[in-house]
Amino acid sequence: MSAQAAVASPHVMNTYNRVPIALDRGRGVRVWDVNGKEYLDALAGIAVSTLGHDHPRLVPALQEQVARLIHCSNYYHVPGQERLATLLTERAHMDKAFFCSTGLEANEAQIKIARKSGVDRGIANPVIVVYEHAFHGRSMATMAATANEKVRSGFGPLPGGFLRVPTNDLAALQAATAGNPDIVAVLLEPIQGEGGLHPMRAEYLRQVRQLCDARGWLMMLDEIQCGMGRTGKWFAHQWAGIVPDVMSLAKGLASGVPVGAVLARGAAAEVLQPGNHGTTFGGNPLAMRAGVETITIMEEDRLLANATEVGAHLKAALQQALGSMAGVKEVRGQGLIIGVELERPCGVLITRCAEAGLLVSVTADSVIRIVPPLILTRAEADEIVARLTPVVAQFLKEPT
Ligand SMILES: *Cc1c(COP(=O)(O)O)cnc(C)c1O
Repeated sequence: MSAQAAVASPHVMNTYNRVPIALDRGRGVRVWDVNGKEYLDALAGIAVSTLGHDHPRLVPALQEQVARLIHCSNYYHVPGQERLATLLTERAHMDKAFFCSTGLEANEAQIKIARKSGVDRGIANPVIVVYEHAFHGRSMATMAATANEKVRSGFGPLPGGFLRVPTNDLAALQAATAGNPDIVAVLLEPIQGEGGLHPMRAEYLRQVRQLCDARGWLMMLDEIQCGMGRTGKWFAHQWAGIVPDVMSLAKGLASGVPVGAVLARGAAAEVLQPGNHGTTFGGNPLAMRAGVETITIMEEDRLLANATEVGAHLKAALQQALGSMAGVKEVRGQGLIIGVELERPCGVLITRCAEAGLLVSVTADSVIRIVPPLILTRAEADEIVARLTPVVAQFLKEPT
């Protein structure tokens, strides 16, 4: 491949503002572009590459599976689905799983479960509570559930049936839903990812859980970005000691192979019956193998503990290097989902960091997002800080 691969193609739709590099290969937490330049990958393809790149146990397992069977459709039983569903439901204290291929599909399935659970008991126009700053995907329904006008605008009419409330505010939730018999569910991200890495407080999650129990609503969580070990527990909500009724997963679930899942328990796990929902690619043998191997390797290599330990080290090091710099608002996060919020928009840092050999993203305009592979070592965490700090310092010295 030549350096030209980094240039926009006339035949690919112009749907992304891309950094002008093209990545060619990776190993561990490092990737190299088509010109041979090395980068430290602190983005992991947006919290996807849990095991990093070219993992010595994942790759041979996937190679074996590719040769055995890639796809067969859900006309047939897929043993891998039972295997991955067992691993996930045990860790999440849920009953059943449905598999799809992306995050938005997992959220669509949650929304369908909530609506049908309402319709089944006579609520003709079910309403789902969603949040300010929420991001749930870019399909029609998940866009409607998403807060950001930049995501939504131009695609109306969007489906109705969503009621938006502020985060971390029980009184506002109670007031907005008071006397409304159409509410069927609350949908929230335990840590809002695209919204700027803002956590829901543990106390608030417990209050929502209680309110859902009292009112007969489903508590539905979007753990697509913050789940799968990234915070140091399997799922971010587990820090609050609660169990949701329904939850969506995707991103880090299979370390780069597209897999999404909805987990549900109790009556919510029985809502979808044959004919109600499905997808061609969902749960195919390759995808399921990738999920099973990812979880197995995460446990063999103690990656939850690693996310906690190295994440705390990284956050402290970022705090030390950047925390008191003028123009830095806050360093926050849990485990290996960390945000550095600046006082002004800093999207330009994505490309400047890449030039400095560091892959990060910027979310909610002014939050540098650091979501590296969970195999990150302390030394590599220090390297992230060493590459990031001068770029941020230089940026903040420039006039606004
Ligand atoms: C990425 C993301 C989605 C959408 O997932 P896709 O695979 O891009 O459809 C939904 N919710 C959250 C919290 C996400 O981070």
